[in-house]
Amino acid sequence: MRRKIVAGNWKMNLTFQEARELALRLNTWVKIHKPVAEVVIAPTHLFLDQVNKDLKNSTITIASQNVSAMPEGAFTGDVSAKQLLSIGIHLSIIGHSERRAYHHEVNKYIGKKMTHLYENGMSPILCVGEKLEEREAGKHFKVVGEQIKIALERQSEENLKDNLIVAYEPVWAIGTGVSAHPDQAQEMHAYIRKVLGEEKGLTVAHSTSILYGGSVTAGNASDFFEQFDIDGALVGNASLDVDDFTTIISARK
Ligand code: PGA
Repeated sequence: MRRKIVAGNWKMNLTFQEARELALRLNTWVKIHKPVAEVVIAPTHLFLDQVNKDLKNSTITIASQNVSAMPEGAFTGDVSAKQLLSIGIHLSIIGHSERRAYHHEVNKYIGKKMTHLYENGMSPILCVGEKLEEREAGKHFKVVGEQIKIALERQSEENLKDNLIVAYEPVWAIGTGVSAHPDQAQEMHAYIRKVLGEEKGLTVAHSTSILYGGSVTAGNASDFFEQFDIDGALVGNASLDVDDFTTIISARK
């Protein structure tokens, strides 16, 4: 089933104390307001365990920002799916454009991360999105289509059904203050759903939640949520401010 989800990607921001405080304030708000949308936050790896413990009885899901493509072993600095699971984390962002750009992660490698998540009974938030020059060259559908196809190549329908979140994040919109137009986002979301259907069948296509990400703000979130194929948002900057983030959550009706 498609789910309404608003996820905050905290990236490499906040100290330990700040992260705990933000999570607790958000949790208090969620308890009082009982939003329609499922709320997800992704603090840095180092804080996952504590924040997860702080929010033990909360409806907020704590996700990891990344996971290793390897199951275990000599991979200094990496964190495996099994390790995340061992502290109660069941969801991980993979393929974020910052990982693709600064850590040279490619589609096949991102697909391996997805495999490890599913092997451990976890779920991915798979990020996809084209660069500005790719859009300008009219290649955006091709680029995003390939990102989806290759990452999902080895995944079974059984694993994907009800257990896949995709985030469409055009690279040119991330952290720039220039979001995609809601019509542009809708067009790509519909395309992603079509590709999912062609590659993995209609059950997967209709059970995948597709989030928009890239300069989502308290002011523009509802314009995105009005679009038929936009199930929610993956929010960077605006998720670091409890007022902005809760306004975005409330907008997902
Ligand atoms: P932004 O980041 O909201 O700051 O543009 C989104 C993301 O990278 O997930």
